[in-house]
Amino acid sequence: MTNLVTHSQSGLLSETTSDDRQLNSHQPSITCALCPRLVRFRESNDKLYPEFYNAPVPSFGELDAGLLIVGLAPGLKGANQTGRPFTGDYAGDLLYSTLIKHGFAEGFYEANADDGLTLIDTRITNAVRCVPPENKPVGAEATNCRPFLVSEIALMKNLKVILALGTLAHKAVLASRGLKQSAIKFSHSAFHNLENGVWLADSYHCSRYNTNTGRLTTKMFSSVFSKIESLLYERGSRPPNIRVD
Ligand code: SF4
Repeated sequence: MTNLVTHSQSGLLSETTSDDRQLNSHQPSITCALCPRLVRFRESNDKLYPEFYNAPVPSFGELDAGLLIVGLAPGLKGANQTGRPFTGDYAGDLLYSTLIKHGFAEGFYEANADDGLTLIDTRITNAVRCVPPENKPVGAEATNCRPFLVSEIALMKNLKVILALGTLAHKAVLASRGLKQSAIKFSHSAFHNLENGVWLADSYHCSRYNTNTGRLTTKMFSSVFSKIESLLYERGSRPPNIRVD
């Protein structure tokens, strides 16, 4: 694992000023130890795959973006390998091609963090920042990681749409906003008006399993982003969509 930043053993980055603490409160330390099971998994992966990132994966994109995409957790040989959300596995192939198609990213996606791909008015994070065994975080791990999502959302002053990929991400977003889980049920392609002018959009996760089983097709996924484009256009933060599907 390579990283030039020095961090504390648990929780937040160990910067000294209050301004820095606020700025970094959305980013866990690379040695965050709040989830013992995930720490053990990280450490075993570090032995098996020493060339992998094997640490909490930082968000990708600028904090002043209007769209925040929230995934489940890093994939073992995806984000956990490359150190960038959704980068290196099938879910990233579908997500980034869709983002480029809809003008939320530009450049070429090459499944590594050095591909030069740039996000446009978009930021990507995960509800759980460390790779879980079998891609399945437990509830306590989502709860432990929630403060980073809360801080992330609080720092995004231009935020207009949060896209939750899957039920766990949907629940994490609700919890991060202090909403009851019963307040809004997950429903693919549904858009929910949250308080303070922010919308929550739902989509099935763009995993290989979901596309192989037909739960999510490329067209269905693209349609969600078309709706987001229209919503951002209505909110005055995006030019009209002139693309024809
Ligand atoms: S999942 Fe989040 S809270 Fe848990 S160890 Fe990783 S960074 Fe820390």
